[in-house]
Amino acid sequence: MKKVLTKRFGFAAFRPFQEAVCEAVVAGQDTLLVMPTGAGKSLCYQLPGIARGGTTLVISPLIALIEDQVEKLAAMGFRAERIHSGLTREHSREVCRRYLAGDLDFLFIAPERLAVAGFPEFLARRPLALIAVDEAHCISHWGHDFRPEYRLLGERLPILRPAPIIAMTATATTLVQEDIVQQLALRDPQRFIHGFRRTNIGIEIVQVQPTARNELVVDLLTDPARRPAIVYCPTRAKTDELGRLLAANLPAAAYHAGMPPKDRDEVQTAFLGGRLQVIVATIAFGMGVDKADVRTVIHTAMPSSLEGYYQEVGRAGRDGKPSRAILLHSYADRHLQKFFLEKAYPEVGVLKDLYLELGPQPEPRELLQERFGKPEDEFQAALEKLWIHGGAGVSSDDLVTRGHDRWQASYVMQKKYRAEQLELVFGFAEGNQCRMGALVRHFGDKSDDGHPCGLCDCCAPGEVVAGRFRAPDAKETSVMLEVLEKLKLRNGATTGQLFTDCAEGRRLDRNQFEKLLDAMVRGGLISLLDDSFVREGHTIRFRRAELESQGRHAGAAIVGSLELSSLGDGAAKPVKATKARASVSRRSRAAKEEAAPEAPPAAEKPTKTKARGRKAAVQPDQPLDQDEQLFEKLRAWRLAEAKRRHIPPFQVLTDRTLRDLATARPSSLEDLLQVSGIGPSKAQKYGDKVLQVIAEN
Ligand code: ADP
Ligand code: MG
Repeated sequence: MKKVLTKRFGFAAFRPFQEAVCEAVVAGQDTLLVMPTGAGKSLCYQLPGIARGGTTLVISPLIALIEDQVEKLAAMGFRAERIHSGLTREHSREVCRRYLAGDLDFLFIAPERLAVAGFPEFLARRPLALIAVDEAHCISHWGHDFRPEYRLLGERLPILRPAPIIAMTATATTLVQEDIVQQLALRDPQRFIHGFRRTNIGIEIVQVQPTARNELVVDLLTDPARRPAIVYCPTRAKTDELGRLLAANLPAAAYHAGMPPKDRDEVQTAFLGGRLQVIVATIAFGMGVDKADVRTVIHTAMPSSLEGYYQEVGRAGRDGKPSRAILLHSYADRHLQKFFLEKAYPEVGVLKDLYLELGPQPEPRELLQERFGKPEDEFQAALEKLWIHGGAGVSSDDLVTRGHDRWQASYVMQKKYRAEQLELVFGFAEGNQCRMGALVRHFGDKSDDGHPCGLCDCCAPGEVVAGRFRAPDAKETSVMLEVLEKLKLRNGATTGQLFTDCAEGRRLDRNQFEKLLDAMVRGGLISLLDDSFVREGHTIRFRRAELESQGRHAGAAIVGSLELSSLGDGAAKPVKATKARASVSRRSRAAKEEAAPEAPPAAEKPTKTKARGRKAAVQPDQPLDQDEQLFEKLRAWRLAEAKRRHIPPFQVLTDRTLRDLATARPSSLEDLLQVSGIGPSKAQKYGDKVLQVIAEN
């Protein structure tokens, strides 16, 4: 293996864990490999593929990723090819011929290719050396990046056996890992879950109310030693806002999926080249971006999953030098995240109602929607979830049928799981143990010894850079003293109860109260313990406060000398006022995006629940207006596209997006990206064709 590594791949040595993984795969073991981005997972299928001889089939979710890998392998002198919808028939035919002739080392396909009738049987005509499934977490609806096409793998891979399977991902919780193993039917797999500890990133988590965050970010990044930096914001509007603010002081710019691709590329290039020192981005930024010297990663709001958060934090300090990751959040972030969750996962009752509307006879989705009578977003979310869990079938010509009746348990479990993931994020942020240790445990890295990192705000409170502190005032001191008194009577009271008892009547909000508790923990007077109970199948998490011995004897002098976080003190009013003014002048689109997270898609602001019914509410015998005509044309195109790809039409583009397209009539790729529901990947897949349909009508 060492010889293959140096001679054929040109690497001097294996990276950590690569050799052990390669050994298992060369020996024909099914393998699950979970290592962070950049760890070198590709080599773990490439080298064994070459060593075993014959063709390795690689399944990868994106054409761009496939093209990139094929190019790299070809440059190293391997015989690598691919079959996907972006290539000509002649090309595919030639690749098939070479495959049958045993003339390929690597054949790349996207998972949906396995849905093409006869294709798996064609592949089965020759034994494969190895099957590699990249981004394997996409198979699991427990994960944060579920792709329905991946579900085909479980069904179609068995005829390609007995070749061993290696499943690779950078981001899988233990439950997702289990799901991958089950769905791919891996046989007694070797599991390698490694390398999640980063020893040069100090994580710092700060409670600060939303209105004070921008100012703090500017303040932090004014120090050149903290740059280059990536700042993650939850929405496009917030990204633009903070981007402008920073750009007034520093070489900084915004980056998000709503910007024209040209501008985005420019920003990215400038950042990679060092001309821009700060990039303010939604989570759309960073995929495949490798900039070694990022000193600081800041999150200006609570992330929605620890997996995503870890990926983003991991972009700091790739060069191994000391770096910091700073997360700003407050109690208020809970509400927004919960709102997004409810939006994406409707009440089970809504799904039940929809399920009962379905029959064994295929019915056009539109008729169903009209009959169902709920707002479009809600209908769409409910149908999609039913479909994922098998309660509805949606054919590629957009006909809906009733599916099996076992969808409910699995949907309820998924929704509960998402809520729990969210709780894990809150628990992580509000916890008071080593941050890096908590992340490493989350990924189930068993080879890690769990030692404290020595860098984070829990391990090294003295090193904190984002915290700002002040002495408590008289009211705060008396509230803290009261908390201590309450705990002396009833040690282990919940923080919610303490808030009600000690703070509520005294014009102290929950945020301020949490700051007091935080100061008392740092001062060693109390400790906070996470606890939970189960009610109606839901895990409810809460926290208890317990007295430390110092707290038992602390009086006004000690409590008065505690350091309270001063972040956000008094900032609320002025910032709010300017924000309100600004938003009046902004168009409704910006207002919509204000609360819409970059991903998962299709979330909307609470106040904007106006259901945009189809314009076809006009009399049926009136001629269709122009938008409506274009909408119908787009629908016809979508139907053809869905059939070609063997997916339900709403997976191509939703009705809402088609309608927005028909109204906005974009004429360039840049305009296209302004339409909600169209991000870079949809634009890449369908952009040209959509623009063509619009231009022709
Ligand atoms: P992952 O898929 O885990 O994110 P990749 O497989 O794309 O990571 O590898 C990241 C980079 O590391 C690639 O540029 C690859 O060429 C390089 N790399 C992988 N293994 C080695 C090695 N043993 N020695 C040097 N470079 C390596
Ligand atoms: Mg990879």
